[in-house]
Amino acid sequence: MTNIVVYTDLDGTLLDHESYEPGPARELLMLLADRGIPVVPCTSKTRAEMLPICEDLGLTGPFIVENGTAVWIPEGRGLPRPPGTGADGDHWCHVLGKSRGYISGALAGLGGEWANRFHSLCDMSLRQVSAVTGLNESQARAARARHHSETLLWLGSAADRSEFARVVSELDMEVLQGGRFLHVLAGGGKGEAMAWLHGILCAHMFPDATSIAAGDAENDLTLLEAADHALVVRSPAHEPPQPGGVAKLYISAAKGPAGWVEGITAIIEDIDRESGHGRFLSKRYHHYAAQSG
Ligand SMILES: [Mg+2]
Repeated sequence: MTNIVVYTDLDGTLLDHESYEPGPARELLMLLADRGIPVVPCTSKTRAEMLPICEDLGLTGPFIVENGTAVWIPEGRGLPRPPGTGADGDHWCHVLGKSRGYISGALAGLGGEWANRFHSLCDMSLRQVSAVTGLNESQARAARARHHSETLLWLGSAADRSEFARVVSELDMEVLQGGRFLHVLAGGGKGEAMAWLHGILCAHMFPDATSIAAGDAENDLTLLEAADHALVVRSPAHEPPQPGGVAKLYISAAKGPAGWVEGITAIIEDIDRESGHGRFLSKRYHHYAAQSG
């Protein structure tokens, strides 16, 4: 059977943009687990936010945080410790980006012309973070625990934002538009982090695995472009991003988690069809398996 690894954005993709719930995606996550297909979150969220989310979703493998500036790999799950990784708790960490302190210092260096056009998530009170995101207090605290990227609420115009991205790029840093926030990175990125982790997974657990990437926003473009199959999940909040040079692209009709289920199912059935396997994910199959088993 073809090895498959799914790399997925969370907010607006696997999780609903407003409620942060997986809704219909929960059932598909169980089907994927049954079939041994790992689902790797690749998100702008922090490690502190991801630990309870992974537990809730039943995801026990690696995850990529802060827009691909760090990859966390659980110990004792069949992967050897990759060279050059740090350790914290029961995870190894591969860092791809410079520290948040470096980034915020560089942004402060841009001076007063820019300082009043954004507000760092990490400088907001918990109440402000909750008001902007809808997260509760402990979730808001976890969202502020950023180490390798800076997350900004943009207060200026769209034209200002383009100029800001240009100015930041001259500092060898990158501005990415997420579903709610602007993210600033100094090294790394979702596509680069995914490519690194996919190399590790292929070398040790899933030889020649086919990669599927799913995302809903501009900050998912490098992720979508790094995968064998790309799923763009439609968003209720903004236009779908337009990945370039993708071998196989599926754009969902449904929005959010329903679009994730629609697209992941269609792509895996497509992979199964090409490799001569049955439709392992269809409800029909499970109905049949339940009857015959
Ligand atoms: Mg998203």
